[in-house]
Amino acid sequence: MEYWGGTLGYRSMKCSARVRSLRGSATLAVTARAKALRAAGRDVIGFGAGEPDFDTPGFVKTAASESLAAGHTKYAPTPGSPDLRTAIADRMRTHNRIECGPEHVVVTVGAKHAAFEVMQCLVDPGDEVVVVTPAWLSYRPMIELAGGVVVECPAAIRDGFKIEPAALEAAMSDRTVAVILNSPCNPTGVCYTPDELAGLARVIASHPTATLVSDEIYEDLTYPEMAGGVGPFSPGSLPELRERTVTLNGLSKSMAMTGWRIGWAVAPGDDGAIAKAMTRLQSQMTSGIATFLMPAACEAIRRQPETSGPMRIVFAERARLVADLLDGIARFDTVPPSGAFYAFPDVSRCFGLTSPGGRMIDSAGSFAEALLEEKEVAVVPGDDFGDVARNHIRLSFACSEDQIRAGVGRIREWVDALA
Ligand code: PMP
Ligand code: GLU
Repeated sequence: MEYWGGTLGYRSMKCSARVRSLRGSATLAVTARAKALRAAGRDVIGFGAGEPDFDTPGFVKTAASESLAAGHTKYAPTPGSPDLRTAIADRMRTHNRIECGPEHVVVTVGAKHAAFEVMQCLVDPGDEVVVVTPAWLSYRPMIELAGGVVVECPAAIRDGFKIEPAALEAAMSDRTVAVILNSPCNPTGVCYTPDELAGLARVIASHPTATLVSDEIYEDLTYPEMAGGVGPFSPGSLPELRERTVTLNGLSKSMAMTGWRIGWAVAPGDDGAIAKAMTRLQSQMTSGIATFLMPAACEAIRRQPETSGPMRIVFAERARLVADLLDGIARFDTVPPSGAFYAFPDVSRCFGLTSPGGRMIDSAGSFAEALLEEKEVAVVPGDDFGDVARNHIRLSFACSEDQIRAGVGRIREWVDALA
């Protein structure tokens, strides 16, 4: 299976070297492959997609329909309408304790777009960006497309997928322009405590040229009831980093709105210099999100707790279930997830074995491929999440408890039968 969607060759039409060597998103590719197999009648259980299985709340859909009917169909300000930027700034101030105003907010086409733009705005060729890995697989291409150099700071499973301040210090240099932190983390499901984040923040603060990019897209999905679990915390609220943090968030995960493509960056530092730079860049690229979505996004933000609260409880139960079920697979090593909706077991004890269908398992990729072919369970191989992630697979538990039981049951049966 070509998880990265294939290499773009060209015959008569030129394709830039920059894009020729670009790998497509493996998470999206696995999700698409599972959907296609299901459409073809195969009984695939999908642990690929990083998207909630909940529907977008009715009140958000209604707000969008009403906004459309009211004729909000013309161009809107690139960084978002004043109402929406104010709603986001209000939430970031009251909920995340980040001192900011509407002028520091840029609304983007999903948090992915925000991350991409931030890298374009922070990174010059040769600049280094420290990424704590395992990390969401889109950070590397975003940094590299900006000409930057990725410096991985590995958080191995034996360390609970977390780094200490000393490791971050060792990864940083005078060429470091940014550090990306993502707590709760995709793909490990791990959350840092406020004290741990404050420790990392002190290291970043001691490097005057470094900006913290804090990707908090999973902030509403934390499970303090799990071992090692804590609530969310925004390092941009720390006075020493207020001037040098860009916080990313959006409605995809917390409001089950992945297909709406609504995210944002909040960058209060330097009088909103990065927010202004992002706005200039965005004005030459996508302009803003669809105008009639802006009132619906305001409504979603206003009523966020009543949706994400109950959803969080369901995900916490699933996290417990997944942790228990994975614990029962003797050849897996796993850290129980305490945030987001991912588990990231190390499957390397399966390497060197042959599957019931006769396939040699020698990597996370061959594991995932054989599992899909032979047991119809879709997972994402760890390779693109960082060097330290190569022996892992990612399971997204954004599906029903029945599917989790059935899917992990199939994995267990199959892994037990490897010989
Ligand atoms: N950050 C992380 C860590 C993610 O997992 C994702 C994927 N949903 C995003 C950002 C982007 O989310 P979206 O573009 O759907 O808002
Ligand atoms: N971020 C989600 C994931 O990791 C959605 C897919 C993507 O945008 O990468 O599965």
